[in-house]
Amino acid sequence: MSIASFPPGTRVACYPGSFDPVTNGHLDIINRASGLFDYLVVCVLHNPGKEPLFTTPERVQMLEQSCRDIPNVVVDSYDGLLVDYLQKKGIRIVIKGLRPISDFDFEFEQALMNKRLNNAVETLFMVTSTTYSYLRSSLVKELARFGSFPPGLVPVHVETKLRERFRAPERQTPLETGGSGLA
Ligand code: ADP
Repeated sequence: MSIASFPPGTRVACYPGSFDPVTNGHLDIINRASGLFDYLVVCVLHNPGKEPLFTTPERVQMLEQSCRDIPNVVVDSYDGLLVDYLQKKGIRIVIKGLRPISDFDFEFEQALMNKRLNNAVETLFMVTSTTYSYLRSSLVKELARFGSFPPGLVPVHVETKLRERFRAPERQTPLETGGSGLA
């Protein structure tokens, strides 16, 4: 499904972010938000304040692979202001995930500025699930840099990309290690 082909009158929302890389916290928001709209456009934005680990096409690919079983999710990318992207695509609703404390000030400011730039834009906040409230991409990258890959933080294919990037060996299954599988 491409953005150009949304049927008229459908309810479309945009979930923007860096997704460097996508985490299970992002995917929790994507899963929940996609159930509330006809289409959810997940948009990888270029943040001039952050030097990304993965290129935009890599981040888009990881999101596409993660969302391939959610038929009403479309992944896109944009190098510019979010409000300009929304205007171009005719989208008015922005979904943001809200983690305790850390996100509020920044997201509040962003939402107000976006409204100031385009009064038609509405930002809706979805509260994080408790399981992922501590999870952010930068923390995942920090751990990966030191060779730590706790299970359940990112999809398996994203873990593989992180291991490639940091040249860390793949997780070994009990069969590969010759162990009993009980350890
Ligand atoms: P990160 O802080 O992980 O680098 P992004 O810039 O990619 O995040 O964030 C995109 C959006 O996803 C933001 O609205 C952010 O608040 C939200 N988000 C990120 N991680 C989580 C999480 N663990 N739970 C809920 N929302 C999240």
